[in-house]
Amino acid sequence: MSKVALITGASRGIGKSIAMELAKSGIGVAINYNKSEERAKELLCEIKRLSSNSNIYKADVSNETEVTEMVHNIESELGNIDILVNNAGISQIGLFTEMTLFDINRMIGVNLIGAMNASKAVLPSMIHYKRGNIINISSIWGEAGASCEVVYSAAKAGLIGFTKALAKEVGPSGIRVNCISPGVIDTEMNSGLSKAEMNELTDGISLCRIGTPEDIAKAVKFLISDDSSYITGHILSVNGGMNI
Ligand code: NAP
Repeated sequence: MSKVALITGASRGIGKSIAMELAKSGIGVAINYNKSEERAKELLCEIKRLSSNSNIYKADVSNETEVTEMVHNIESELGNIDILVNNAGISQIGLFTEMTLFDINRMIGVNLIGAMNASKAVLPSMIHYKRGNIINISSIWGEAGASCEVVYSAAKAGLIGFTKALAKEVGPSGIRVNCISPGVIDTEMNSGLSKAEMNELTDGISLCRIGTPEDIAKAVKFLISDDSSYITGHILSVNGGMNI
């Protein structure tokens, strides 16, 4: 029986790339989406050719009830979840003093509580079988902090603390918990940045290029492989040397 991975926010961007990479290894993929149903369906068509034990699942990760129901459906349709990638995320640029409580709750809700909801839902089965891999997608701004992305930075820093603490708690149950901290990656999340702003960001990257979603997908593949079997609680920066 092949492994099953739940990737949150897999309808596009980094999550889509992770889904493709894992499907190439024959892993069954549960593609979670919230709004982009058509794109999730298109991705499923591609994925099915690589890994037939795959499907799409709608849930807002910030909603505990929806996440619990989604995990229940995945477990009964695809099998127990061996790998969880907490990738779903949103960013909002603006001065901290201009963020409303709604903005703050939404950003913490999706980026941080979303990862907690999904982890809580998959852990009972992982603990029962004494195996599992959880990967949290944080951000360079969770490590370094970004002006005009204060709430996003706080949520992503929270994911780093969550990774380290959960790794300690569930390590004795044979479960590894790691985190990837991407730098600037070419996805719709950065579509609001002008060419000049992107060039300026590139100037600060040692490897002189913006990252691709595939750069992150390959790091996920490593962290769920046997090659990293003694690595847990680790924060892997994948940023081309932007933050050394
Ligand atoms: P993206 O292209 O904007 O895609 C975001 C994904 O998250 C979409 O699939 C979206 O699904 C999903 N999503 C958003 N809200 C959701 C919710 N409430 N429930 C479920 N899914 C939800 O962003 P990306 O660049 O691929 O980012 C992926 C992750 O990497 C995020 O956690 C982001 O913070 C992190 N990251 C990105 C960068 C970067 O430079 N791009 C850098 C560092 C970290 P729907 O469209 O279906 O709603």
